[in-house]
Amino acid sequence: MNKKYLAKNNNVFFENESLFNFSNTLIISSLIALFFVAGIYLKIDSDKKQKFLEEVRQNNEKIKQETEAQKLNLYQLEQEKQNQESLLKKEQQQRLALENEIKQQQKQSEKYQLLPTINEEKQPDNSQLTAYIDINLKNRKFWLTKMPKKTVALTFDDGPSPKYTEQVLDILKKYNVKATFFVVGYRIEQYCPILKRIVSEGHELGNHTYHHNFLTKITPELQQQEMYKTQLAINNCVGSSYVPRWLRSPYGDQDETTLEIAHNLGLNTVLWSLDTNDWRPSSTSKSIVSQAIKTHGQDIILMHDATEANPQLGLPESSNSRQNTVNSLEDIIINLQGDQINFVTMSEGFLN
Ligand SMILES: [Zn+2]
Repeated sequence: MNKKYLAKNNNVFFENESLFNFSNTLIISSLIALFFVAGIYLKIDSDKKQKFLEEVRQNNEKIKQETEAQKLNLYQLEQEKQNQESLLKKEQQQRLALENEIKQQQKQSEKYQLLPTINEEKQPDNSQLTAYIDINLKNRKFWLTKMPKKTVALTFDDGPSPKYTEQVLDILKKYNVKATFFVVGYRIEQYCPILKRIVSEGHELGNHTYHHNFLTKITPELQQQEMYKTQLAINNCVGSSYVPRWLRSPYGDQDETTLEIAHNLGLNTVLWSLDTNDWRPSSTSKSIVSQAIKTHGQDIILMHDATEANPQLGLPESSNSRQNTVNSLEDIIINLQGDQINFVTMSEGFLN
């Protein structure tokens, strides 16, 4: 019985055991299922999180890039602004400089226009007529008879030159002779001390244009510039109170427009009445003296204290030295002074 009971109990036990097994399996399966589901859920969740994080990261990256791009844009805008500002400033400065130059030009022109001109001189009696000075000038002639008798004006063109001008000045100083120097604008800055010496020793400065061009071959505007720039260069060197009163056109090349422009700048125009031909290659100091001493007075004598002033134009027949001019000067002065001829500057001869 015990056995049976045992058996029975065993059976029960067994029955119970299988029941137990079954429920265990169920629980385990459930748990596995649960874990599985949870796993899947967690996996999905983690994927989502990953995806979200990735999106956030990409977003951040995008924002970062956009910020960088904006920064770059801002920098470029700032640069552009600065460039525009500096351009504006530059333009403003240029405008101011131009306005100043125009003002200065007006002021200078007014100053020059206040000068007396001798363009309206009447023709003297034919018996008194020695020569025309401006042979091309129809309405504004003036006459050599305006000069005191027994006077000549020595004139030197194309300088200042470091090689010859000071030699000329030394000789003029030795004999206390005053002359007129028609200077070329572009040389003035370089040789300003020579220009100052010319003025300080009582000589006169005339305008021989800035580049020594043929004036009738350039526009009226350029002709005006050629004259005006030389006036300014002279003023900048020897002082603004000095007013050049005479223009001598290079090569004597001028027309009525040239004379009109010169007149508007307050310049009298003058060529010469006696050419020493010192510029010719064939000239010698002897030939220069014999030409110069032909005068009996009332002459404007043409000489040169520099070689070709505009080498680009280089006239083939022009000599490349002015030493003959220098060497002839002393003899010319001694001869003319021996004839009781006085030397005057252009303004002394014509504007007094
Ligand atoms: Zn000249």
